[in-house]
Amino acid sequence: RGLAIGIDIGGTKVAAGVVNSEGVILAEEIRDTPGHDPREVERVIVSLVQALSAEHRVLSVGIGAAGWMDRSGSTVLFSPHLAWRNEPVRTNLEKLLHRRVTLANDADAAAWGEFRFGAGVGQDRLVCITLGTGIGGAIMIDGRLERGNWGVAGEFGHQVIVPQGHRCECGNRGCWEQYASGNALGREARELARANSPVAQEWLRAVGGQTEQITGAVVTALARQGDTASISLLEDVGEWLGLGLANLAAALDPGMFVIGGGLSEAGRLLLDPARSAFNRNLTGRGFRPAAPIELAALGPKAGLIGAADLSRAAAWR
Ligand code: BGC
Ligand code: ZN
Repeated sequence: RGLAIGIDIGGTKVAAGVVNSEGVILAEEIRDTPGHDPREVERVIVSLVQALSAEHRVLSVGIGAAGWMDRSGSTVLFSPHLAWRNEPVRTNLEKLLHRRVTLANDADAAAWGEFRFGAGVGQDRLVCITLGTGIGGAIMIDGRLERGNWGVAGEFGHQVIVPQGHRCECGNRGCWEQYASGNALGREARELARANSPVAQEWLRAVGGQTEQITGAVVTALARQGDTASISLLEDVGEWLGLGLANLAAALDPGMFVIGGGLSEAGRLLLDPARSAFNRNLTGRGFRPAAPIELAALGPKAGLIGAADLSRAAAWR
């Protein structure tokens, strides 16, 4: 049980790190996610593994990627945010890396990380939601990831929450992730900036007037500095989050929701409105316990740490 490399491949960033058996990151590197060429993504992974294993003796590599894995964890079937379509990612990478590779969905990896080392320790029924480019979802029951019949359970981000709503990369309209993700936050802010709204002033200042560079991360950072327009956009996103969680509670009745991903850095600015919308929409409210909604204790690192740890978990493959 030595060191493992964990790699979290999101729609915007690829984060990789060397992780020990206590879930502690010893070294870390971050790159931008390459656009449209699957080979390019593989090259980034190979270069990250080479860079990180130069300094550490690494036994295995675990990957959590923003896509739909098949049941055996060898093929990425589809991803709304990455170039992979029916791509035999595990075999490709094992050939390139000459190492055992474990492949999981990014939110599954984050849930595993939180269950092993974070907010979900000891939870028998855990639902983990990651908020970044999209919304990732994972279900853990009795210490095991519930992956569905074909490996694609927990794609909560693509539950339609607004019929005929915003178009989603997955092909549908009105998916939850179009309303409660980091992307949604950025889109709303850019829309206000394009409309020359006075509330857009701070966002435009932060990006030197380049409207297209206003992202969820920009808005989150400004909200934390007290910008009222940013705080109110986070409130909107938080409300959508809470509504979606209430729907999930109706379906799954988990003992806890853990919220991770880049947008979770907004902390209470996101969670307070989410909790209140959850309590207002929970079916049977007042006559049933309401699951606590907690921030991921490992923050945006949960996926990386979980992916590394999954590569050591014999039960996974
Ligand atoms: C994808 C998921 C992924 C999530 C977060 C969604 O759009 O469908 O597979 O976990 O984004 O990255
Ligand atoms: Zn969708």
